[in-house]
Amino acid sequence: MKMELNIINMYPDILNMYGDIGNLICINKRCEWRGIKVNQTISTIGTKTVEDIGNIDMILIGGGSDNQQNIVSKDLLDKRSMIDNYINNDGVVLAICGSYQMLGNDYCDAEGNDIPCLELLDIKTESSNERLIGNILIENNLDLNPKSVVGFENHGGRTYHNYEPFGKVKLGHGNNGKDNKEGVIYKNLIGSYLHGPLLPKNPHIADYLILNALKNKYDIDSLPLIDDKIEIKARNAMANKLIKLQND
Ligand code: GLN
Repeated sequence: MKMELNIINMYPDILNMYGDIGNLICINKRCEWRGIKVNQTISTIGTKTVEDIGNIDMILIGGGSDNQQNIVSKDLLDKRSMIDNYINNDGVVLAICGSYQMLGNDYCDAEGNDIPCLELLDIKTESSNERLIGNILIENNLDLNPKSVVGFENHGGRTYHNYEPFGKVKLGHGNNGKDNKEGVIYKNLIGSYLHGPLLPKNPHIADYLILNALKNKYDIDSLPLIDDKIEIKARNAMANKLIKLQND
């Protein structure tokens, strides 16, 4: 039996900061290499609603500027109940930066505009004109090896919550530059400030998402290995460079 995943890519035309679309490309490729069929659907403003699509196995949603968040917010709120049900039924989600912020209670941007948020998680984001920018190294809290996850962050928002963070900040800023937390883990959802895009740089996170999505519909507990020597080398090079820069 050929396994299949139905992936919804939300607002790739609007929320695609720093190539977040690469997360979808990475998932597609790693599934293709393993003979897993991916059916992808774009959900954006003006396309059919996610409610019509059904049988979703993974939702990917990227980051954007405050302005872009404002543009998608009404459409996103129209899909709130579907996303709520999906997340609480263990649906797999990766939400990056602006969309991570929008899962929470409120976000008032640097210009004082209140951007309506989904209020699905008890997350608060405050904005500041001083942006948190740069390469970032974290240690993931998913019990995944390797522990290290690298990426790039650029956000004015400072995010606070009491859930399990996606990782512990080793270098960089993370959620708010203060508490050493980066991102959020809630059931099968990961929210993170890490662009990069995140998954090609950190294929162990991509495989975690793929495996969890497959587990929701098939009797499977591991994935065939892929030769990730190049990816591992690239990630280690970046992590080591960051550590060296900090020590210099
Ligand atoms: N608009 C948000 C902020 O600056 C998110 C930016 C992003 O997605 N990189 O905080």
